[in-house]
Amino acid sequence: MDILSQDIMYLQGVGPRKKEILSRELGIRTYRDLLEYFPYKYVDRTKVYLISELSPDMPFVQIKGRIIRFEETETGKRRKRVIAHFTDGHGICDLVWFNGTKYVYQNYQLNREYVVFGKPGVFNGRIQFSHPDIDDAAQLQLNDMGMQPFYITTEKMKKAGITSRAVEKLTKTLIGKLSEPLEETLPPFITSHLHLISRDAALRKIHYPRSVDDTQRARVRLKFEELFYVQLNILRYASDHRRKYRGYIFNRIGAQFNWFYTHNLPFELTGAQKRVMHEIRADMAGGRQMNRLLQGDVGSGKTLVALMSMLIAIDNGYQACMMAPTEILAEQHLQTLRNFLKGMNLRIELLTGIIKGKRRREVLDGLMDGSIHIVVGTHALLEDKVQFHRLGMAVVDEQHRFGVAQRARLWGKSENPPHILVMTATPIPRTLAMTIYGDLDVSVIDELPPGRKPIQTLHKYDDQMPSLYNGIRQQIHLGRQVYIVYPLIKESERMDLKNLEDGFAALCDIFPEFRLSKVHGKMKDKEKEAEMQKFVSGQTQILVATTVIEVGVNVPNASVMVILDAQRFGLSQLHQLRGRVGRGADQSYCILVTSHRLTKETSRRIDIMCETNDGFEIAEADLKLRGPGDLEGTQQSGIAFDLKIADIARDGQIVQMAREEAQKIIDDDPDCRKSEYSLLWNRLKTLRKTNIDWASIS
Ligand code: ADP
Ligand code: MG
Repeated sequence: MDILSQDIMYLQGVGPRKKEILSRELGIRTYRDLLEYFPYKYVDRTKVYLISELSPDMPFVQIKGRIIRFEETETGKRRKRVIAHFTDGHGICDLVWFNGTKYVYQNYQLNREYVVFGKPGVFNGRIQFSHPDIDDAAQLQLNDMGMQPFYITTEKMKKAGITSRAVEKLTKTLIGKLSEPLEETLPPFITSHLHLISRDAALRKIHYPRSVDDTQRARVRLKFEELFYVQLNILRYASDHRRKYRGYIFNRIGAQFNWFYTHNLPFELTGAQKRVMHEIRADMAGGRQMNRLLQGDVGSGKTLVALMSMLIAIDNGYQACMMAPTEILAEQHLQTLRNFLKGMNLRIELLTGIIKGKRRREVLDGLMDGSIHIVVGTHALLEDKVQFHRLGMAVVDEQHRFGVAQRARLWGKSENPPHILVMTATPIPRTLAMTIYGDLDVSVIDELPPGRKPIQTLHKYDDQMPSLYNGIRQQIHLGRQVYIVYPLIKESERMDLKNLEDGFAALCDIFPEFRLSKVHGKMKDKEKEAEMQKFVSGQTQILVATTVIEVGVNVPNASVMVILDAQRFGLSQLHQLRGRVGRGADQSYCILVTSHRLTKETSRRIDIMCETNDGFEIAEADLKLRGPGDLEGTQQSGIAFDLKIADIARDGQIVQMAREEAQKIIDDDPDCRKSEYSLLWNRLKTLRKTNIDWASIS
């Protein structure tokens, strides 16, 4: 039997009780599981600092010296603090224990040489270490003085004595037992081309590095391997899919497109729009089915790109549909499209849940007999009853409500799957998009139409509300409208609602001269739409809302977005909310209101918002601050994020490399037949069976 499949219980130092804990807390059941449980950081224990060099902003450090005196102070009822005065001949610092005097005296003696390891702090002007790790200098092994790995452990593990140090000992024991080299999982042409060390070396070094360089080389190799197989899997899936389904070939640019372009298009396309149209046209004409994600900040002109793509389908004798996440948005799209296509002989209809009876039948018939060219709607479009004569192109607005399953339902609506264009304003950093949507191509509109005034973002404290109210008043007197957003705290929906209701009542008192609307997630859809409609049509001047307004509403006349308790929102969410304003010609404002008490991270978020309007910059920052798991809209998107070592927020370059290598192999061996790749295909098969939730992306 493969030694790595051995039950972890049989490793020296484990046994049944620890096995139980390791398996429950970390899922470590076999030698392999332990070997693949990687340290999250290292501390360089080759370096010994002088006490005189220490300062409290340093991370973990070690010093070497002697205890010259013990001192005790009372800290409460029968509780004592022990301080050991420690010197290395260059300075003095304090080692402190807040309980367990007995333990200290039993273990440490005066005038013996110790190596002390810990995080320096400062107390009463003196450097101090509380509860440091202490080793007898004479007994310290040379090996322990290398790079010390740190493993994540849980409270339960620590209680059972399985500290990071204990995990370290176990992995070292295990590595000592591995006399044979570990199996290689990447072919030599990749490892040599990218200068990656072998898997065997990487797994040994990751736990047992001798130098910083060792840790880096080991990590790069293991991260690459992990990301490479993720990409290989996604691309395999995509290439299978492409061969199973042919795409419609829309190579004609015909009357409708040309008429629109020369007569109806009221402005010049931006450079970015032109580039993206080029990409889309190439896709649609190329014979494979288009699956393209169109990213662009709010107001960048995605709708127009979508419209022109639909005209291409129409010119080639097919119908198109456009799907929006809400009824209001669907209606807005309908109006926009009808406006753009005025005077052209095209039939454009709406299909949402509120279209019923005779009207509904007419639309369904029109789709069946092909007399409707474009239908705009909500998820209602996915119902089985909705049948097309020849659906060639589907546009989906706002991807995060549209998963793989929905895409599949669209495919079912025509002979071949229609070309699909998914529009999103959520700026997904490229590396992330590549990892999650490996089977979608990505187009980016990174340029706003000319003449836009960038939104001004300001930070105000909650004691400045009166002047803020005056500002709001002024804007409304100028004829503009205002959003006021309350945060939603998931822990207590009742409290949230109360918060919003109280706030709404207070605002009604503050602004008796204006009319206010209110929307929140607990309202019935109909009620919500009605309130929203009042604001859209200008009957009300202020819309008080929770984040339900986040997605896509377009009220060009609204020029102020006030976000209360802004510290409670994530960056992406703030940016999405801000995108509701700045859609008209007027100067728009986004006001972030917080209390004076802000954590470092929060004030960083607020600063970023005030500094930039660039959605991609914000998304990158967000990814770094929060980690990808939290990024909105990616959770249901398919591929699981249980990466063991790679971090897509930081490892963008490795993602890119992995993608390129995987693509080369897929292109070279689309049938998975070539023997030089058999190692890869076999490994992929094993991974599909075990590791990641691969199934959900196919
Ligand atoms: P998005 O869907 O990306 O948020 P829209 O397509 O709604 O953006 O465009 C926002 C506004 O900008 C619309 O009023 C649209 O007509 C206008 N617009 C789009 N492209 C251009 C352009 N090239 N030049 C000027 N205005 C444009
Ligand atoms: Mg839009």
